Amino acid sequence: MPTILYMAPGDKPEPWRDAFRAQMPEAGFRVWSADPATDETGDKAAIDYAVVWKPEPGFLKTLPNLKAVFSMGAGVDHLWNDPELPDGVPLVRLVDRCLTQGMSEYVIYWVIHHHRKMGVYAGWAAEHRWKRLRQADAEQRRVGILGLGELGGDAAAKLVPLHYKVAGWARTRKDIPGVESFFGRDRLIPFLNRTEILVCLLPLTPDTRGILNAETLAALPEGACVINCARGGHVVDADLIAALDSGHIAGATLDVFHEEPLPAGHPFWSHPKVNVTPHMASLTMPDSSTEWYVENINRMERGLPPLNTVDRTTRY
Ligand code: NDP
Repeated sequence: MPTILYMAPGDKPEPWRDAFRAQMPEAGFRVWSADPATDETGDKAAIDYAVVWKPEPGFLKTLPNLKAVFSMGAGVDHLWNDPELPDGVPLVRLVDRCLTQGMSEYVIYWVIHHHRKMGVYAGWAAEHRWKRLRQADAEQRRVGILGLGELGGDAAAKLVPLHYKVAGWARTRKDIPGVESFFGRDRLIPFLNRTEILVCLLPLTPDTRGILNAETLAALPEGACVINCARGGHVVDADLIAALDSGHIAGATLDVFHEEPLPAGHPFWSHPKVNVTPHMASLTMPDSSTEWYVENINRMERGLPPLNTVDRTTRY
């Protein structure tokens, strides 16, 4: 009978407790808190699995019988805030059907927004102007996705039946029907050269931090648009603002930021070519995510390795 420790400072544990109670009623469920008055950790030796978001640095290594750490997000950059993650304990990424579906909805919505220049129409409507642009052909629109993993791969595949010309860039070659595969650092600039609507769905790692910078933005064609729904650290903010102001980049949709919430007064809030969303491209949903944790816990209890473990070298 496994015991799960939930550690997500600032998040509400009740929906998670309910989801585990419904899907794994035999499991123990304890909620970590920095406040000793409400902390339910109890006997640390009894904890088998930890479900975490931004774990307290140094705490996980004090759990002597921990079998796995489950990230509450697909991105695991939050885990490295703990410089003392326990050695030899698998770190498991979240792969959740609802998370994937939500992200693809977000990507499709904003690709269409930029393709059909809906932002321009919204501006004209605000001025009560009745004016039309020449309509663009989706078959001529080149969409490019940085990162073709669980999320980028699904979004790419779903853009194909909408007739966009879709390509993706990853570390390794991908074979997604209708999606041109670019891979490796030396194919990044050629990938950007052909991309009019760029979507970033990379993990934030030492290799990808600051990947959207003056050089890479300049490699996009004049008038390209950028959608970043990965992590704020992928973007060099000043370089993006300069590219928007020069007109080289026509528009940007940003869901994630270096500092969240995006500070009042940050230029992205008021930039006329920027759409800001509050890190909601796809949110972790307790019921469907718990299906993923339960599947993995059941695997591990049968002696099988968990699915989608994080490589501590590449950091994703
Ligand atoms: P995956 O690990 O499944 O996919 C990552 C992809 O990025 C892979 O295709 C990988 O290539 C590629 N990649 C990684 N490093 C490099 C590199 N150095 N060069 C080229 N390609 C690279 O991740 P997910 O798709 O599940 O998630 C992606 C990110 O989305 C998360 O890390 C998170 O930051 C973000 N996210 C944002 C949310 C939001 O609401 N805004 C919600 C959920 C996630 P390869 O396949 O060859 O290994």
